[in-house]
Amino acid sequence: MKTDKLPKARLEKEEYSRSEQLLRLALPPAEPLREYAIELKEALANEDRKAILSTSKLLLNTLSDYFEVEHPKTKILSVRPREVHGDWEFQTFGDYDTETAVLRLWMRTAIQKKTSAYGTFLNTLVHEFCHHLDVVSLDMPNTFHTKGFYERVGELYHHIQNTPAKKIVWQRYSDGTYAVDWAKTMRG
Ligand SMILES: [Zn+2]
Repeated sequence: MKTDKLPKARLEKEEYSRSEQLLRLALPPAEPLREYAIELKEALANEDRKAILSTSKLLLNTLSDYFEVEHPKTKILSVRPREVHGDWEFQTFGDYDTETAVLRLWMRTAIQKKTSAYGTFLNTLVHEFCHHLDVVSLDMPNTFHTKGFYERVGELYHHIQNTPAKKIVWQRYSDGTYAVDWAKTMRG
């Protein structure tokens, strides 16, 4: 998890700093979200694409109703797209189109084509939902990956999964971006 570079244009800079400072969202009632999350876990274990789609939609639409925003148009795709640049590899777990509100989640890993782990899949779902919320409700059309963005995703994800949220420890780079220091974060 790495933050986007600070933009140069004034309006984008302003959006970036608002996103960075917004550390939490109001949290929706735990149910029925946690029940749907358990159904999603089963659907993934059964590699049941239809059930993965329907439970993902239940989660996303329940979240949208709570935040009083339109439902994203949800799609479940198969094998994650993969890009390789030398030693460095990038897989797309999900994405969100800020123009069309189409939210896509990939259910299989790139190489072994196994079903995504439940935690990874749910985290991606919440991540893409937070992009949707930025765009349609929080007046943040560029929906930057800021420290605040990842804090919002993390809190909502742990709330739905019913696991304690870890305090994220950030490591700062010389270009002004941040990445999660996983060792320190996991130690708590
Ligand atoms: Zn993202």
